[in-house]
Amino acid sequence: MSHEEETHHELQKEEELRVEVAHGRFVHVTLTDGTAEIFGAEIARGAAVKLPGGKHAIFTWSGASLTLRGTPEHCYAASETPMVTYANVEGVLEKRREKARADPTTFDGPRVALVGPTDVGKSSLSKILCNYAVRKGWHPLFVDLDLGQNGIATPATVGAVPVDRPIDPSEGFASARDLPLVYFHGDSSPGNNPDLYGHLIDNLAMMIDKRDATNAEAKASGSVVNTMGWVDGAGYKLLLRALDALKITDVLVVGQERLHAELRRDFRGKTVSGTKPTPIEVWKLPKSGGVVERSPAFRRATRDAAVKAYFYGPEGDLAPSSTTVDFGKVSVFKIGSGPRAPSSALPIGQKTSADPLRVSTVAPSMGLLNAVLAVSHGTTQTEILNQNVAGFVYVTEVDMASGRFTYTAPAGGALPSRNLILGTLKWIET
Ligand code: ATP
Ligand code: MN
Repeated sequence: MSHEEETHHELQKEEELRVEVAHGRFVHVTLTDGTAEIFGAEIARGAAVKLPGGKHAIFTWSGASLTLRGTPEHCYAASETPMVTYANVEGVLEKRREKARADPTTFDGPRVALVGPTDVGKSSLSKILCNYAVRKGWHPLFVDLDLGQNGIATPATVGAVPVDRPIDPSEGFASARDLPLVYFHGDSSPGNNPDLYGHLIDNLAMMIDKRDATNAEAKASGSVVNTMGWVDGAGYKLLLRALDALKITDVLVVGQERLHAELRRDFRGKTVSGTKPTPIEVWKLPKSGGVVERSPAFRRATRDAAVKAYFYGPEGDLAPSSTTVDFGKVSVFKIGSGPRAPSSALPIGQKTSADPLRVSTVAPSMGLLNAVLAVSHGTTQTEILNQNVAGFVYVTEVDMASGRFTYTAPAGGALPSRNLILGTLKWIET
């Protein structure tokens, strides 16, 4: 086979190497001299770091020599980055964490949210902020509210994970040691059921408040919340609702002046009712020139890759297991009415009457084929609506004639529960 290409790169201080790798491919980068970090996670000298399909930046504060093995789609060095500004923000957050640690009965750590339109670097900056906090000994909670490009679990979920070590550039948050708290919405956009989206965020907020109430170190570390890129109209209202529910103290607006102005207007004079009322700060941050716009097709490919990584591991080397069961052995539920009828299809004056939070059973049908189902921790319908999920399976075969279906799960053995939740998320193995 063709031998792997090797290139060498010298970075001056505060420069970064931007590397784009095709989905399904890998590139290895080795730091041979100096210091370097990937979205805030330091890389060790001499050890090859595997970069999976996606867009990466290797930044250096002091200068670095790098060797790249493999064939990226694009690779170039850049000297203009917003990293100094980002590090200054981290410095302010750090002071607030220290204050909260020194006097936990008066002060709380910062609860930060990254907001902005799509493709401004929200997810990347949330990684950078988590990693800088971890490097200083904090254990921030990373929260991801983005159903489309979720950094914690599969798409169509929201969740939280305590970050107790730097985020591995090749594994993402999957490498965090603590099991994440994941809620299943079912769609890769909140638009089909915004009420459920808000409800799940309320549940998440309650769990975070509980954790902070019993763990002073967690409370001082605070949280870093990544949000979705839908910031207009109904999306803006959902965003406000989420910031409010999660008691966000610092709203970091990336890359859009208008959104920054709107949020400043709406948060003027407002406080968060923590240990002591804290004024809400709205910041404006520049977008990195390295952030690349991603097409709908690329986003879909990223979502598919995330589902695949769940079942096969980030390296693609895990063997999921396949099981065939009678329909009667499991219960499949849906929440709400599924995709809503457009109101134009209804008689004038009539509203859709379906309760968006209603949990109902789904009769077996071919519609289950290729569905990614969440395995609920709940057993009653109320619990199914309110509890986090244990994991996911996907349906590879539906046999209506014999009343059986076949699913793939990441591990063999019995499922943690027989109660499954169906949304619109589908995945076809390629
Ligand atoms: P979305 O709205 O889709 O969630 P986002 O605002 O969260 O987007 P990111 O996912 O952080 O944006 O960034 C978009 C893409 O650009 C990602 O693939 C990310 O890895 C890449 N990227 C971010 N910063 C840089 C950089 N400095 N150099 C190269 N690539 C970068
Ligand atoms: Mn994102």
